[in-house]
Amino acid sequence: MDYFPPDGKPLFRVEWRTLNLERAETSETLNTMPPEARMFGTAVACRNRIYVLGGYCRGDPGCADKKFNDYHSHNCVFYFDSARPDCGWKKGLPMLFPRKAPSAIATEGKIYSFGFGCGSHGNPTGDYFAEVFNVELNRWDKLPAPPVASDLVPVSVSDPVLLDSSRSRILVHFSSNDSLHAFHTHGGSWECLDPEFGDWSEASVIVDDVAYFLFDLDPGWAETDFLLPLPTSASGALELSSVKKGSRSK
Ligand SMILES: [Zn+2]
Repeated sequence: MDYFPPDGKPLFRVEWRTLNLERAETSETLNTMPPEARMFGTAVACRNRIYVLGGYCRGDPGCADKKFNDYHSHNCVFYFDSARPDCGWKKGLPMLFPRKAPSAIATEGKIYSFGFGCGSHGNPTGDYFAEVFNVELNRWDKLPAPPVASDLVPVSVSDPVLLDSSRSRILVHFSSNDSLHAFHTHGGSWECLDPEFGDWSEASVIVDDVAYFLFDLDPGWAETDFLLPLPTSASGALELSSVKKGSRSK
């Protein structure tokens, strides 16, 4: 992503390159994205396409909505089809709600987009805290509301959310009350896994049925909490352990 000011008018130029994992080679750019693309979009791969969701304006003169003196999020969507690279980046169906750097994952032909932007598109009610895109139907739909709790604020949804693919569910943390929930992608229902889970980390990942959370506590020192096994329901025991400097202990 480049930033350059021709004639005193700042613009953004977003380009992509590929990395061949077998040969460890970087290739040519995947073409420049359309000028409507904004910073702080989220990239997610679904089938043979790369999707970039949302973005953010800081008074950009290139704002497609012509809100030149405003800080706001966009609902724009762009995609690149690796099977048709000559077509370059195309505009996709915009999301229902503007989002800055949404937490997004793709599974089974659907893209789930969580989280909000800020500025004039604030949504304190949480009606649009998440939505799902059906690639085949080319349609966005609101996600059902999370479980109601007096201290659960939908807009406090975590970044990232985690795909627990073997159980067809998405793990979602809410910082308003530090609870951990699962959204079941097949049934479309929510389940509270732990009402008092604790802190969530921006560096979280699932590997071999274990969720790892990396925390930087002090300079030069890090602790990784891991959750083993991932619970199948609220009655399943959540066992948090720790990895410190490569060793594993409880
Ligand atoms: Zn804008």
